[in-house]
Amino acid sequence: MKKQYDIIVIGSGLGGLTAGADLAASGKKVLVIEQHFRVGGSATSFKRKDFIYEAGLHMTTAVKEGHGHYELFKRCGIENKIKFLAVPEFYHVLGYDYEFTFSNDTENNIQRLSDMFPSDTKGIKKYFKSIFTINDQTMMINERKGIKFTLSLLASPILYPKVLNSLFSTIGKFLDRNIKDERLKSILLGNMGYYGDDPFAISLLFYAVAQASYYRNGGAYVQGGSHQIPDAFAESIEKNNGTILTMQEVTKILTQDGKAIGVEYISKRKDATISQAFAPLIVANTAIPNVTNDLLDPKVASPIKKKFDKFKIGPSIMTVYIALDKPLKELGNSYYSLVFYDNENLKIKDFAKLNHSDFSTRPFILCDYSQLDSKLAPEGKGYLVLSLMDFLGDWEDLSESDYKFKKKEAAETLVERVCKRFPEMRDHIEHVEVATAKTMKRFLRTPGGTAYGYENSPMQALIFRPGAKSPIPNLYFASAWTLPGPGFGGAITSGDICSAQIKNDLGIA
Ligand SMILES: Cc1cc2nc3c(=O)[nH]c(=O)nc-3n(C[C@H](O)[C@H](O)[C@H](O)COP(=O)(O)OP(=O)(O)OC[C@H]3O[C@@H](n4cnc5c(N)ncnc54)[C@H](O)[C@@H]3O)c2cc1C
Repeated sequence: MKKQYDIIVIGSGLGGLTAGADLAASGKKVLVIEQHFRVGGSATSFKRKDFIYEAGLHMTTAVKEGHGHYELFKRCGIENKIKFLAVPEFYHVLGYDYEFTFSNDTENNIQRLSDMFPSDTKGIKKYFKSIFTINDQTMMINERKGIKFTLSLLASPILYPKVLNSLFSTIGKFLDRNIKDERLKSILLGNMGYYGDDPFAISLLFYAVAQASYYRNGGAYVQGGSHQIPDAFAESIEKNNGTILTMQEVTKILTQDGKAIGVEYISKRKDATISQAFAPLIVANTAIPNVTNDLLDPKVASPIKKKFDKFKIGPSIMTVYIALDKPLKELGNSYYSLVFYDNENLKIKDFAKLNHSDFSTRPFILCDYSQLDSKLAPEGKGYLVLSLMDFLGDWEDLSESDYKFKKKEAAETLVERVCKRFPEMRDHIEHVEVATAKTMKRFLRTPGGTAYGYENSPMQALIFRPGAKSPIPNLYFASAWTLPGPGFGGAITSGDICSAQIKNDLGIA
C-alpha cells in the first residue's frame, strides 16, 4: 500500500522535529525519518554505566513564559515538559597570566573589566553598547511584517546603520578596532567556539544577536540531558497522529516534473528493507549539501547547488567526556564553563591557527555539569566535558589503530592540562571517552562532521543563508544550515520559520 503523508521530514535534529511537531499540532499528518536509533541529532545524550553522558549542550537560553520559544512549545504541548536550569555564570576565562569571571550581570562585567583594563574603558563600553544596539535594531526590523519589513530593510542604512555595518563585518575586526589589550579581547571571545573557529570569519551581526541574548538572559541547561527537548517534540508528533521512524536512512528524494513528491529510505536493521513514502511537502533537516549531492537527482538539484555550493562549511567539535567518582566542585572547581586559553601571548589574530594546533595548545572549554543539579552523574559523582574545535581532515585517513591511538593521546594531553589546574582530579577519573569530527559525521551525517552548518561568516550568516523554502517546488529546509543558523535556539527557530512558511503556503497561517 502507498504510504501517504501530508509532510515528510528527513532527519530528527531540532530543526526537523520543531517543524514536524508544529505542523502535526496544526492537524497535518507528519512522518519523520531518522537514520540513528534515537531522535535529536546533536541534541542528545547516551548512557555509560550509571551516568548520562551529555553529548552536546553546554548552554542555551531557557524557554519560559513570555520568553524564547514558549509560544511554540505551548502549541506543541511541551511547555511544561522540560526543566531549564540557570547556569551560575556565563563563563570563566583561564588565561596564561590572567583570569576573569564573566558573570550574568552586564553592568558588573563592564565595571570589573574597566577596573582590570582601565585604558580600554571606552572600548569596553562601546563593545556592550554596540552588541545591544545591533541586536535591538535587528529585532525591530525582524518584528515588522509585510511591506513594513521591506521598508525597514530599504531604510536600514539611515535608520539602522549599525545593523548594516555589522552585516559585512566580523567580531574579530570589531574588537581590533575598539579594544587594545589582547587579553581583554580573548575574555570577550570566551564562548566564541559556540559560533565558529575564527573571530575574523564570524559575522558581527550574527555574533551580536546571539551574545545579546546570553548577556541579557543568561545561559541555561536542560536538567537530565538535552535529549529531553527532541524527545518531547517527538512525543508531541506521535500524540498528534504523526509517525517517527528511527534506524531508517533516506537515500533519495523522489521528484516528478522537478517537484519533490516523496522519499526512498533503507532500513539500517538487518533486513535492509527499501521503502518509499509520499507527501506533497518534504522538509529536509539533513544537511543541505546531502540534499544536493546525494538525495536529489543532479539536474533537479542544480538551482540549489549553484547558489550554495560555494559556501564554506563550519568546523566540527571534539568532545572529551569525563566521569569522576567525585564532583569536580569538590576537587577545586567552582565554575560551570571554564575557558582554557593557557597560551602565553595569546592574540586573537592567531585564534584560527590555534584552533587547528596541537592538543597541547588548542583552546578548549571545560563544562562541569556538577555545578548544577544536572542529574547526569549518580549521587556523589561528577561529570564534565571538554570541547574544542575539530576538523575531519585530521582523522579521516587514519587507520583504525592510528585513529584510536591519536584519540587516546589527545584525551591524555587535554586531561593533563585540566589536571594542572585541578591536580586532585587525576585520582578520581572513572572513565574517559572521546568523540571526534569523524564521530560527528557518523552520527549527524553532516559534511566534515560540522555542528554549525555553513560557516557563519559575513556573507553566509543570517539573511545570506538558505531560507526555509528551497528553490525546488515542495521542498523545504529546517536546520542549522538555514536562517538563522546553528545552536539549539537557531535550529529550533529554523523549524519554527519552516513551519510558518508551510502554513502560509497552505493558507492555514
Ligand atoms: C558537540 C556539540 C556541542 C554543542 N553544544 C551546543 C551548545 O552548548 N549550545 C547550543 O546552542 N548548541 C550547541 N551545539 C549545536 C547544536 O546542537 C546544533 O546546531 C543543532 O542541534 C543542530 O540541529 P539541526 O536541526 O541542524 O540537526 P542535527 O543535529 O544536525 O541533526 C540532523 C539529523 O538528521 C539525521 N539525518 C541526516 N541525514 C539523514 C538521512 N539521509 N536520513 C535520515 N536521517 C538523517 C541525523 O542522523 C540527525 O539526527 C552543539 C553541537 C555539538 C555537535
